[in-house]
Amino acid sequence: MKAIRLSGFGGPSALEAVDVPPPQHGPDQMLVRVFGCGVCGHDLLNRGGHFPHTPLPCVMGHEVAGEVVETGPLITKFRAGDRVAMIQRIGCGTCTACRNGQENICTTGPGFYGEQISGGYGEYVVASEMNTVHLPDEIPDDVAPVLSCAIGTGYHALRRAALPIGSTVLITGASGGVGIHAVQLAALAGLEVIAVTSSPDKADDLRANGADHVVIGGHAGGFHAQVRDITDGIGVDCVLEVAGTPTFPSSVRTLRPGGRMVIVGNVDPGNWPFNPALSILKELEFIGSAHATLNDLRKVVRIVAQGKVSPRIGRVMPVSQAAEAHRAMEAKEITGRVVLMHDHAMAA
Ligand SMILES: [Zn+2]
Ligand SMILES: [Zn+2]
Repeated sequence: MKAIRLSGFGGPSALEAVDVPPPQHGPDQMLVRVFGCGVCGHDLLNRGGHFPHTPLPCVMGHEVAGEVVETGPLITKFRAGDRVAMIQRIGCGTCTACRNGQENICTTGPGFYGEQISGGYGEYVVASEMNTVHLPDEIPDDVAPVLSCAIGTGYHALRRAALPIGSTVLITGASGGVGIHAVQLAALAGLEVIAVTSSPDKADDLRANGADHVVIGGHAGGFHAQVRDITDGIGVDCVLEVAGTPTFPSSVRTLRPGGRMVIVGNVDPGNWPFNPALSILKELEFIGSAHATLNDLRKVVRIVAQGKVSPRIGRVMPVSQAAEAHRAMEAKEITGRVVLMHDHAMAA
């Protein structure tokens, strides 16, 4: 199969076009011909060597949808020809996390696409009943790849946040693929949304996607004073920290006493300076949020099919242009998600 492979960590030029055998599916797995694959900030970090345990060479990409072409003998819910989308990880199905419906944090299964298992920058991937859902006709091939991660990650984070209607939520990295859908989902959930972006020219777009307020922040400096003004001096009930290092110092200062932060992403890996007294005296809660579960993806499919969230695809490109897609993401040229389409699906 044609694939874009990472043979050594580095810049976008480390992505090489190769012809490799398709991955082999086990008896409880199926082979899926990939329509396309979303490009995630996570991919840029992986390519750059921030996940040093990624076995090289690896075919990248964890935001995958496609058509089932072969099924193992233990597969009962899917057949060849089914259109499907997958969550980022294939769990083991038997550990405590998997049994609790938290296959997103399983550590003993086959693993994560683009890392332990061959990913969606390749024309075929393996999938299992534990990470796959059917796609309805309402969701086209070039939209399906953004369901699991670009939309599912924000859905999962909002579920972790567990906020009543009318709560205030601040969302950093709001113009990115995860952020802009989190803004839409938070608005759909009846929350008052404060979107933080480092790009002033994206403010109108964020309002159109459901943000009640937009503040400009990120590397440029702090935004907590603005947020305090917006919330009548109280602070926000919750932060979805999607950007991480650039925004964390200001984000934590926007929380009201008793507020919570859901930590979703970190664009610049490294430690965050934090004074624990803040958490103690204000009883702040910090909650991690990893990707999406199979149930999250099921819900996202329904929400998108019903038109309640509009997938934001900033650019559709052929998989052969993966390096260019990475460069455009690093240059922050894109609002929403880039989807890399395989040739067979582009022609369709
Ligand atoms: Zn992703
Ligand atoms: Zn497991």
